[in-house]
Amino acid sequence: MNWREYVRAVEPYTPGEQPKDENVIKLNTNENPYGPSDKVKSCVQDLDLLRKYPDPAASDLVEAIASYHGVEPGQVFVGVGSDDVLGMAFLTFFNSERPILFPDITYSFYPVWAELYKIPYRTKALTEDFRILPEDYKEENGGVVFPNPNAPTARLMELSSVEEIIRSNKDSIVIVDEAYIDFAPEGSSALSLVDRYDNLLVVRTFSKSRSMAGLRIGYAIGQKELIDAMQAVKYSYNSYTMNRPSILYGCASIQDEEYFRSTVERIIRTRDSFAAAMEGLGFRVIPSAANFVFVEHETIPAVEIFEKAREAGIYFRHFRQPGIDNFLRITIGTEEEMETVIKFLTNLT
Ligand code: PMP
Repeated sequence: MNWREYVRAVEPYTPGEQPKDENVIKLNTNENPYGPSDKVKSCVQDLDLLRKYPDPAASDLVEAIASYHGVEPGQVFVGVGSDDVLGMAFLTFFNSERPILFPDITYSFYPVWAELYKIPYRTKALTEDFRILPEDYKEENGGVVFPNPNAPTARLMELSSVEEIIRSNKDSIVIVDEAYIDFAPEGSSALSLVDRYDNLLVVRTFSKSRSMAGLRIGYAIGQKELIDAMQAVKYSYNSYTMNRPSILYGCASIQDEEYFRSTVERIIRTRDSFAAAMEGLGFRVIPSAANFVFVEHETIPAVEIFEKAREAGIYFRHFRQPGIDNFLRITIGTEEEMETVIKFLTNLT
């Protein structure tokens, strides 16, 4: 017997590369190119206050998010990025002997939390054109989780199909990870279903559409019973997840709806014109409802494009996973950045 046998051994999630050089065109981690609103930038905080613990309930932020979405504060759970919120949700709700279900091509953190918490899981294949089939999620399970739009494919599932999955799983929790939903057409979000289904948890983030990946704010919305259960787990783990700057800047971001809308619309416009230009260069582009596109070239292998781009100071994301290893995930940057990418790829193809 040796202590090494009892160490919790996990294969960790690998985040995208964060190069030190600020001059590269960084399109590998789905950050927003525009920076947070001026309302956030002009917030002043008395740094002497940092000697005190923050409000453990982060009430100001919870109330701001609740009123923004027209729900009760008791229906909102906040955390350190949606990764923290998702991790807490796995720990809270996926606690049966039955396997949880998620797509085989999806956010690669899901199997990592499942392994960490020893949750059995089963993956469901996407269709050839990367769609999630609702009928795959109707067998007995200990919970269901999927992003909508899915990552890294960017493909949106229509709300009626999302609802079909929720309705077919009344005895387990369905987590809809809406990290990218603000870039999808209006009416796509499962938030409109929260009042009707006590087994639905919707997870959101400030990292993409609100341009605050560096601050780490995520949240979940569901019926109060679900949020209470998550709070109990959170307070059994770490009371002070949200620091003072996060609470303050998060509230300021919510107050600037105009800036939020205009940057999201700008990214959508750039995405759609970039996708059309990519098709003109011989790329297959999966229809995107996110702030990134998932592409495959008809002849040039993805690894080759990935490496040549990197040498030229352009960072894309490539996943060495069977089924998608000839694809690249490209975040939508500014108009100028995407023009540079198109020029680079025109020379390559
Ligand atoms: N869900 C999905 C589908 C994501 O792609 C990401 C970004 N890596 C996250 C959740 C987590 O984002 P964050 O922790 O920055 O909110």
